Amino acid sequence: MRCPYCGNDDTQVKDSRPTEDSSAIRRRRICNACGGRFTTFERVQLRELTVIKKSGRKVPFDREKLARSVYTALRKRSVEPERIERMISGVVRQLESLGEVEITSDQIGEFVMDGLKGLDDVAFVRFASVYKNFSAADDFRSFLAKLHDEDGDASRADDD
Ligand SMILES: [Zn+2]
Repeated sequence: MRCPYCGNDDTQVKDSRPTEDSSAIRRRRICNACGGRFTTFERVQLRELTVIKKSGRKVPFDREKLARSVYTALRKRSVEPERIERMISGVVRQLESLGEVEITSDQIGEFVMDGLKGLDDVAFVRFASVYKNFSAADDFRSFLAKLHDEDGDASRADDD
C-alpha cells in the first residue's frame, strides 16, 4: 500500500481489526520511509461501477481513488478516520443506489462535496476549489457567496 504522504510503496501493517459494525477490516499502517501513519479499510464491493470522465473516457470506479482525493482534502485536519470512512462509504452507497452502471465524475464530485460539507469546512473548500477548478479568485469568491446563501436556506431545491 502506497504511503499517502510521500508516495513510497514500503509501508507496514501495525494493527488489524474489524470495524465496529464488522463491515470492514481496519488496518493501521506506517510508512518505512517517512514514518507517516495512515489507516486502510478492506471491504466487500457489491457492484462494478463505471465512471464517465469529463473527457468522455470510461474508467472502472475506484473506491481507493475516491478515498485518496477525500484524504488529500482532509490533510492535517483532525477528523477521525472512522468518520471519514463512513462518509466515503455513504458516497459509494449513494452511487450504487442511483441504479446506474455508469456514473459521471461530476456526480461523484457532488456527492463528495455534500459529504465533506458535513465533515469539515476547510476540507470542503479545498476539495471544491480543485473539483470546480477555479481559474480566478473571483470564481472562488462567488462560489463562497453562493455557498453562504445555501446555508441560509438549506431546504431550497437546487434546480440547475
Ligand atoms: Zn511515507
